[in-house]
Amino acid sequence: MKAINKFMIIFGIFWMLISVAVLVPLLIAFNGTEDFFGLLALSIPFLAIGIVFLVIGFSSIVKKNKYLKKGTSYYGKIVAYETDGTVMINNRPLVIVQVRYFDRNGRINTVSVSTGSNTKSGYNLGETVQIAEYNGKTILISDRSQNTRLQGEETLIMTYNTGAESITQIRPESYTCPHCGANLMIARGQTVKCPYCDSYVTNERKWA
Ligand SMILES: [Zn+2]
Repeated sequence: MKAINKFMIIFGIFWMLISVAVLVPLLIAFNGTEDFFGLLALSIPFLAIGIVFLVIGFSSIVKKNKYLKKGTSYYGKIVAYETDGTVMINNRPLVIVQVRYFDRNGRINTVSVSTGSNTKSGYNLGETVQIAEYNGKTILISDRSQNTRLQGEETLIMTYNTGAESITQIRPESYTCPHCGANLMIARGQTVKCPYCDSYVTNERKWA
C-alpha cells in the first residue's frame, strides 16, 4: 500500500474517532433538549471529513482489486519515465512510467501507467512491476518496482529503443561509418562509438 493511502486511511479513522469521542458525550448530554438536533446536524460535516479521507484512501485499493479480478495482469519492465503536466501534485507533475511486457499472445507491448505520485522514487528503470489491464485501460498494481528477473526481459529492454519486435532483430549487422567508411557491426537503432574515427554512429535502418 502506498504511504499516501495509508496516511489517508489512518487520518480518516483518527478523525472519525475524535469526532465520535467529542460528539457522542455531547449528544448524550444534550439528549432531550432543543439543541440535540442542532448538535446532530453540526456533527455531520465532521464525520463526512473522516469518511472522505477513508474513501480516498481505500479507492485505489478497491480499483486495483477490480482490475486484478476482472482484467488481465502482467509483469513488465520499466523502460522509461514521462511526466503529465496537466496533473500537478504539490507543484510537481505526475510521474508516468512506461512498462514493456509480453501480452497474453506473447506480443511485446508498451504501456504508460500513472504512478499516482510526483516522483520516480520506488520505481527503478529496468526493474519489474505488475500491471493490470481491464476494458482497454491499464493501471499500475505494484507500489514499487522489484529487482526480479522476467523471462525474456533482455528482449523487452533491448528492443525498446529500436522498435524491434524480437531478439533476432537486434543482432548487430554490418553498417558503414558515415564519417570514415569503416565497416562496423551495429544493431538497428543502436549507437556505438566508431573505433577508427571516434565518432558516434547510429544504425538508422528501419524495419518495414
Ligand atoms: Zn568511423
